[in-house]
Amino acid sequence: MTETSSNPEKFVIWEQRWHPLREEWVLYTSHRGGRPWIGDTHQTGAELIPAYDPDCALCPGNKRVRGENPSYAGVYGFTNDLPCFSVEGVLPTGGDEFYQTRAASGTAEVVCYSPDHSKTFVDLSDEECADVVALWTDRYRELGARDDVDHVLIFENKGSLVGTSNPHPHCQIYAGNMIYGFTEREVTSARRHHEHEGDFIGQEILRRELAGPRIIAENADFVACVPWFARYAYEVYILPRRQLASLVELSLSEQSALGLMIREVTTRYDNLWQMPMPYVMAIHQAPTDGQDYRFYPFHVEFHPPLRKPDILKYLAGPEIGGGSMTNESNPDEKAAELKAVSPVHYKKTSPVDDVNSHG
Ligand SMILES: [Zn+2]
Repeated sequence: MTETSSNPEKFVIWEQRWHPLREEWVLYTSHRGGRPWIGDTHQTGAELIPAYDPDCALCPGNKRVRGENPSYAGVYGFTNDLPCFSVEGVLPTGGDEFYQTRAASGTAEVVCYSPDHSKTFVDLSDEECADVVALWTDRYRELGARDDVDHVLIFENKGSLVGTSNPHPHCQIYAGNMIYGFTEREVTSARRHHEHEGDFIGQEILRRELAGPRIIAENADFVACVPWFARYAYEVYILPRRQLASLVELSLSEQSALGLMIREVTTRYDNLWQMPMPYVMAIHQAPTDGQDYRFYPFHVEFHPPLRKPDILKYLAGPEIGGGSMTNESNPDEKAAELKAVSPVHYKKTSPVDDVNSHG
């Protein structure tokens, strides 16, 4: 029932923690995490996925809603056939100061990590990981330079539990005249921290996490942790070791290091329960509306919806109805679980698998 912890950041039950980036309280109820479950289960079977699916809109050579894919090799990006922001958007009329309207202008793109339908990020070679980050960087730079784009949100929905019907390895880019809410709040908190402390909020979080027990992976340029203020059980942040506001500030070696860190985090996720881990990954970067955001804390967030292999974190009364997050776990313990598993994917440990595919 009770939580004990040997680290100095003693975790108590009935605790709330302040989320410094979102500026909101998170409620921790790990003493209730083991309560009996009589609801649905979500065990994901290891179904066999083919390398090519003739019905997949993302596979090379296949038809899409508009046009068709070339026979691409490597990472491939294109404009979403049904974008949520559009250059064709005309300014709606009829709004007033109270019920305001505006055009949803901009664009949306899709990035396929690989032509191979059966792969996920964990299967990419070192070079392919770097290529994905390089393309994200290119798209952030080019889309962000547009007058009708104030923010570039790069995200991946992985698994049917977060609404992805197509397993083809891909992510999406929303680039429009709207700054997404969490980034807007991070701009506010980071700006205030910079003005009051003369320091970067991302660096303050990094210092505290490096001193704590929640680091799950490190390389020369990036650190992955379950943050002290985690909202989900297995939430992971990838933090840069130096102050960065966006991908365009990364050196080539940092691009490569980020790709490898994403692969390690997703590999550790899969190894946790020896099954593909569903998650929402979001790359948080400075808005692109022309203002100075050098204080903004670039980072990558992973939000997995599962608390256990067969238990979904339901967003219900407190979250949907009340607007605040309840985390039924202790972040120190969840970090220890992710740190304890192998950084080599469980599918690669079989002797019949090609271990050398990690070029
Ligand atoms: Zn496909």
